Amino acid sequence: MAIQTFTGTVVEQKMLTDDVLFLSLAIPETFSFNAGQFVTIKITQEGVTRLKSYSIFNPPRQRGKLDFCVKIITGGFASEEFKRTKIGDSFELKGPFGHFLFDEKNTSSEQWFLGAGTGVAPLYSMLAEYVPQFPQQKFVLLFGVREQKNLFYDDIFKMLEKKHPNFTYIPILSRAQWLGKQGHVQDHLPEDVSGKIFYVCGLKELVLQTKELLVQKGVALDRIKSERYD
Ligand SMILES: Cc1cc2nc3c(=O)[nH]c(=O)nc-3n(C[C@H](O)[C@H](O)[C@H](O)COP(=O)(O)OP(=O)(O)OC[C@H]3O[C@@H](n4cnc5c(N)ncnc54)[C@H](O)[C@@H]3O)c2cc1C
Repeated sequence: MAIQTFTGTVVEQKMLTDDVLFLSLAIPETFSFNAGQFVTIKITQEGVTRLKSYSIFNPPRQRGKLDFCVKIITGGFASEEFKRTKIGDSFELKGPFGHFLFDEKNTSSEQWFLGAGTGVAPLYSMLAEYVPQFPQQKFVLLFGVREQKNLFYDDIFKMLEKKHPNFTYIPILSRAQWLGKQGHVQDHLPEDVSGKIFYVCGLKELVLQTKELLVQKGVALDRIKSERYD
């Protein structure tokens, strides 16, 4: 897909949790991307300009808008700018970029999606696009956060699960007791990895540890796709 530079105008902006911001930008209808890809957002503050990468949350069939889930880091260059952002503000965007894509050739395999925090964004885009398209195929999402209050869009994943029996949603908490799964995403990898493809997204530790564990279990590297945020 050709890389384009275009303007995105904020149409919705809300905090989903204490530190995750949802941002929806209206963009030209002509922009297209594949689920799992990202764009750069140009941010200028006090004469300093930086390009920051953000995965697209919404599925590509929704044209004319890009949704993002942004972790707000106190003192972060982009984070501080996004905190101040209001409806009607605009940003220069460039994209789409990235090779973290759904493997349509391997649709006989089970697809496992593993993400923590806002790393779930490109995973949701892929799930929303492909779970309905491949009803014979099994999809599993392991979504890790610290506490229950950090489980943003829990309702959306539960709805997807209810509507599509081929999708299983497994939230995992690392810092709270509850009846569900506890620990880190990488503590809950399947016993039997045969016939499975893995998509991993998040910070360095999660991505590297998960890949290492999967390789130890015998998964070939071409069956592990990953995107690192740092
Ligand atoms: C391909 C790609 C896609 C990305 N998609 C997303 C996305 O969809 N949502 C999203 O929130 N981020 C995403 N990121 C990360 C994003 O680009 C920024 O790095 C992040 O928003 C921090 O930027 P900042 O300017 O606010 O902080 P900075 O000023 O760059 O950094 C402040 C400090 O925070 C640390 N830090 C950076 N990220 C995190 C984090 N997640 N948790 C804790 N500490 C952190 C940095 O190491 C640094 O020390 C993506 C990165 C890449 C490479």
